[in-house]
Amino acid sequence: MSKSLYLCTNCRKQIEQAHKVLFVDQSRNNGFCSEDCIVEYLTPMMESFENEEIVNRETVGINFSEGFEDLFQDQAIFHQVLYNPDKIFKFKNQIGNEFYTHFFELAEHKATYIIITTYYNNEPSFVYFKTITRSKELINVYSVGEAIDSVVSESLPEEIEAELEDNISLPKELMEDIEMKKSEYLAKLLEARDEADVPFEKFPDYDEYLPLVLEEPDEIYEQEDESGDDIKVYIKSFKSNKLTFFYIVLCIEIEIKELENQNALMPILGFPSQDTNLYKEYAIGNRITEMTKN
Ligand SMILES: [Zn+2]
Repeated sequence: MSKSLYLCTNCRKQIEQAHKVLFVDQSRNNGFCSEDCIVEYLTPMMESFENEEIVNRETVGINFSEGFEDLFQDQAIFHQVLYNPDKIFKFKNQIGNEFYTHFFELAEHKATYIIITTYYNNEPSFVYFKTITRSKELINVYSVGEAIDSVVSESLPEEIEAELEDNISLPKELMEDIEMKKSEYLAKLLEARDEADVPFEKFPDYDEYLPLVLEEPDEIYEQEDESGDDIKVYIKSFKSNKLTFFYIVLCIEIEIKELENQNALMPILGFPSQDTNLYKEYAIGNRITEMTKN
């Protein structure tokens, strides 16, 4: 089927199954066959950011090296910059491509760690650029766009977020599984959705509905998916500016050992739709009514 022909954005080779298409940027509909292709395709962007840094440092009159190179090897700090930044700026260019700049204070070094990354499923996914500086001027140069709250935590229901803030970190393997799940379900959605439905590029405009769906869903369905994971589907309909649509959130049930083996629900995909046929694709399994609230 030509309509189900998926080509890698970089090497143009066919990707056999939709769930194997890899995405790294929620603001562009670029799918890739492998991590090598992602890196190859985005290398010119990374080089451009590196060249820009040389110019920026010259402009504000500071050395290219401030002696922080060793800190780039520190995975714990890098993790903080990714998931627990002090500030985030979101920049959207003229064709809608989004860049997220994270700032993280390194108090003991009196310096700021800056990264520029893409987001996918509202989380950092591909880091184009990183630098560490003590220069306020250089920090200002990178502070462009709109200051936003952490998108990372907004995508989690409040109760899970509160628990996670108590320094519970999910095992890396589990996080990777969840990432896989996210790409798998997004690919399935892209395959099932109708051309005339809410455009994929508009999905981020509806992000604010996700928490409302989880808090007060109209319907909840529960099913076990092909890989044996428990998936819960939360659905709620909305009316906004005379537009009626429903918002569907897929969550996976995960065990968090630190929470005395309680199960937690992790949203893996949320999207708006006006297509009742698509609704029917997701409103399957056992319909449940009970809510898991604290
Ligand atoms: Zn490829």
